[in-house]
Amino acid sequence: MDRPEVDELTPPDRTLMGPGPSDVHPRVLRAMSTPLVGHLDPAFVEIMDETQELLRYAFRTDNQWTIPVSGTGSASMEAAIGNLVEPGETMLVPTNGYFGGRMADMARRAGGEVVEVDAPWGEPLDPADVKNAFDEHQPDVFGFVHAETSTGVRQPSVPELTSIAHDHDAYVIADCVTSLGGVELRVDDWDVDVAYSGPQKCLSCPPGASPLTLNDRAMDKVLGREEPSRSWYLDLSLLEGYWGDERAYHHTAPITNVYALRESLRFVAEEGIEQRWDRHRDVAGALKAGVEAMGLEMNAADEFWLPSLNAVRVPDGVTDGAVIESLLANYDVEIAGGLGDLSGDIFRIGCMGHSARPGNVSFLVSALGETLREQGADVDVGAGTETVASEL
Ligand SMILES: *Cc1c(COP(=O)(O)O)cnc(C)c1O
Repeated sequence: MDRPEVDELTPPDRTLMGPGPSDVHPRVLRAMSTPLVGHLDPAFVEIMDETQELLRYAFRTDNQWTIPVSGTGSASMEAAIGNLVEPGETMLVPTNGYFGGRMADMARRAGGEVVEVDAPWGEPLDPADVKNAFDEHQPDVFGFVHAETSTGVRQPSVPELTSIAHDHDAYVIADCVTSLGGVELRVDDWDVDVAYSGPQKCLSCPPGASPLTLNDRAMDKVLGREEPSRSWYLDLSLLEGYWGDERAYHHTAPITNVYALRESLRFVAEEGIEQRWDRHRDVAGALKAGVEAMGLEMNAADEFWLPSLNAVRVPDGVTDGAVIESLLANYDVEIAGGLGDLSGDIFRIGCMGHSARPGNVSFLVSALGETLREQGADVDVGAGTETVASEL
């Protein structure tokens, strides 16, 4: 092996308007360049406490059991599912997007049986269908996706879903990866037993430490398991020793990622969680109005529109990949295409956290409009940019 010669790292300066990660505020990047302390240092223990308190605020919960899981959103997701679902138990999952499928995979690996409640990609779950699925299958655990990043759909009527589940003595796990810090989410008021999220979506923090909260009822189930969870790393009964009162070593926390999460959550508290939801709605609302004025169509109906992830139908005359590539090459803007059933049909435009700013949206709508026009779509770019300007 020759000695490699690699240049100093100089990543391009992108505007991140895809399904995550979103733009990170310089203050968060600065927090990440502060010195390490040990993961059991009293100073770090205080940072852990503060991070947990800030997380409870963002989740709207008093749950003692509120922690950042080491890893990306999929780690907090697997911690939730792998601990709640015991071998032989049944989990009910949705089929209306990509992440319901991931829930099913994780439940099977935990030794669970999977049953499904159907809705088309691009639509939310209907509580009547959830009730029917409960009556038919009597699942032990019910998972749903609050903000489906693959379809741009926000699941409404969450309290109705959780009350159906609780009437059947089941536990509710909510995927809040693309809603925490961006879209109204009330863990306690809505009676959600377990909610997990990721830092790199509406919290605008680099990936690496991912929010998770469990109420006492869910934690009692986890602590009362007959056999330990199949994952040692994500076993919440062991993680309790580190994040609970004991503060004993389990694994080395990603110190720098916890610093970053703490700082990005400080922004949430400074802004106010409700004000933050309003900002996402207003700024993404201008984006939505702009693309619609240009002649494009949103994938989700207005009642289910998800401000943090705008799924826009790909117009006739262009292919999604060429548009996405050109936006990146010519404007340094990142957006994404569709997944699964919606592959090739939609653009996925994120409007999350620090990326949900008026300047970003004006820039994105004009860059997208110009690119679509150049590539042969019939769009009225001027109408789009004027609408954005008048909305912001
Ligand atoms: C991004 C995302 C995940 C997975 O998070 P990673 O950080 O990519 O592991 C899970 N669920 C939803 C809804 C997401 O958008």
